[in-house]
Amino acid sequence: MVLQAYKFRIYPSRKQKDRLLASFDLCCSIYNILLSRALEAYEKDGTNLCGKAEMCRVIREVKEENPEFSEVYSQVLQNCADRLAKAFNNFFGRVKRKKRGEHINAGYPRFKKRVRSITYPQSGFGIDGNKLKVSRIGRIPVVLHREMEGRIKTLTIKRVPSGEWFAILSCEVPTEVREHPNREKEIGIDVGISSFATLSDGTMVENPRFLIKAEKRLKRAQRRLSRKKKGSKNRRKARHKVAVLHEKVGNQRSDFLHKTARICADNYGFIAVEELNVKGLVRNRRLSKAISDAGWSEFLHLLSCKAERAGGTIVKVRPNNTSQTCSACGRELKEHIPLSNRVFRCPSCGYEEDRDVNAAKNVLERAREKVPWGTRESTPSEIRPPPLEQNQRRAVSVNKEL
Ligand SMILES: [Zn+2]
Repeated sequence: MVLQAYKFRIYPSRKQKDRLLASFDLCCSIYNILLSRALEAYEKDGTNLCGKAEMCRVIREVKEENPEFSEVYSQVLQNCADRLAKAFNNFFGRVKRKKRGEHINAGYPRFKKRVRSITYPQSGFGIDGNKLKVSRIGRIPVVLHREMEGRIKTLTIKRVPSGEWFAILSCEVPTEVREHPNREKEIGIDVGISSFATLSDGTMVENPRFLIKAEKRLKRAQRRLSRKKKGSKNRRKARHKVAVLHEKVGNQRSDFLHKTARICADNYGFIAVEELNVKGLVRNRRLSKAISDAGWSEFLHLLSCKAERAGGTIVKVRPNNTSQTCSACGRELKEHIPLSNRVFRCPSCGYEEDRDVNAAKNVLERAREKVPWGTRESTPSEIRPPPLEQNQRRAVSVNKEL
């Protein structure tokens, strides 16, 4: 079973919006009450007192004293407890990592100023034609712009900063083993600065122009906002404008990433990408820039999901020196090639290729070594081949030169 989320635009009426926002506020309050109880317990005897049963007891108590909490569907309130439990789990995870010597801030869960969404974890909602029936809220018009697969499990209703409302339905879809229609087609992908990505077959995926323009507009709006006086009406207006632009850029980017990932996942049964390791990111400025600028990690996530569902294989390889290695003979150059140098030239075999295409070919080659053709099956995501001896082919070719 995999969870698949569907996001639909909803158009609540004025009254429904009021009810939703009231629910948001009450959920925020209950979250903070639960957190303060947990804090007390933690300070008293240093234990984690936020078990599910304990939290449900607190919720019942609060409800008895404050009848307004009964306006919220009870499972929605319980979901606030689940969110807090999750926050605590993350916190304890960070504490553990810190004890192991990682330089991170454990950061205790914080009180919330506002809640931006509520979740119906099991029941209390349904779809009736083009209406979303939600318990305690009403029948909200919804635009079901795509067909859903599987069984609906949860509903989350969310308001984004620009003021638009969305319903996110998560469905359980049975996993089926599929044969990828282009199983034998292979591709390597390299991240770039100048272009979004480069494929080993020579295709350049550019950052779309509209995105670059929209980002410029956003930066301008942010500058304008910073000049407005604090607490003024103009500042509020400018902030709204930034929020709207921010969302627009986010939507356009997400659309671009989804479509690019879809094309790769459908056309290639075997996809090689560079592995992202956080430590490497700090050292490798080229990659870190690409990630912050181009949403590479989000792209990778989308690509893995889509490739796996299509029955394809996605292989992550170590990213070091992909642009300094000759994809024809395997020689690794010692010196770093300046970014201005667009063409890779191999001093050993004389091979010439676009710098990024050469890197993408190396990514593919490393993936082929990691997962040889014979070990590929139709349930590719589960393939975990034994680690190969590093660079057998390369070691040979280097020896020859010596
Ligand atoms: Zn060469």
